[in-house]
Amino acid sequence: MNALQKVLVADDDAINREVLAELLKPEYTVLLAKDGTQALDRATRHVPDLVLLDVMMPDMDGFEVLRRLRADPRTADIAVIFVSGLGRPEDEAQGLKLGASDYIAKPFNATVVMARVALHLQMVRQRRMLEHLAHVDGLTELANRRRFDEVFEAEYQRARRRDTPLSLALLDIDSFKQYNDHYGHPAGDRALRAVARTADAFVRRPGDLAARYGGEELVLLMPETDAAHARGLADRLRDALNRLAIAHVASPVAPVLTVSVGGATLLPGEDTAALFAAADAHLYRAKQAGRNRVVWRATP
Ligand SMILES: [Mg+2]
Repeated sequence: MNALQKVLVADDDAINREVLAELLKPEYTVLLAKDGTQALDRATRHVPDLVLLDVMMPDMDGFEVLRRLRADPRTADIAVIFVSGLGRPEDEAQGLKLGASDYIAKPFNATVVMARVALHLQMVRQRRMLEHLAHVDGLTELANRRRFDEVFEAEYQRARRRDTPLSLALLDIDSFKQYNDHYGHPAGDRALRAVARTADAFVRRPGDLAARYGGEELVLLMPETDAAHARGLADRLRDALNRLAIAHVASPVAPVLTVSVGGATLLPGEDTAALFAAADAHLYRAKQAGRNRVVWRATP
């Protein structure tokens, strides 16, 4: 079931609020605000899908509310429709220029309001779907490489600012080419999805990320995690993957599917590229040492 989309109605006139709320309630979750300050507070707290925003309000007008919504990253993308008694074209133009999706003149017609709200909420859903698709790997449903690159950069900056550890692991399925050759690509896809699901379940703290980096290679990003903990987590994951007991008779390593993991924890002065290269070099070492193991860069 889809949760109802949330619509915030901000209007200083109690009757307008009530009329709009009654209209919208059967189809949406409705939040109400009686002035600009409350509108900003509700918007930040509940992040509605759409705001129906009155222009003329005593403490802070709707234009200013919209400016402040756009200035805050938490609310910058919320769709806004102005509902205003200011019917002049220049008012409408100003509202749209500020980034409103639409402008409805008061007195409004209920059917038109509902139709426009439905249209804009549909566009919100479509935009979210596109954003989702742009960030998710289609086969494994993990974050894709593009998403990983974004999160890696953001977590790197955060780790530097706060002086907290940041650990990175690269995980590669052992002898995956032989697996595909022996069992076929559909089976290979299923195995990769099973590995991805298990990896995803292991990195579930806020900020953690499991992504598909390419082919049969996953990457795990673990903010605020020192080398000992990250290494321990990677090894428990490797063990859990062994215990999935996915038969791999063509593997020179074990009768079941195994993985090799290389990891590194951020060093002072190191950039993202160097950290990634270090994890990759240790993945190579894990392969060289016989696979089905975790090799972590030694901490100085
Ligand atoms: Mg008003």
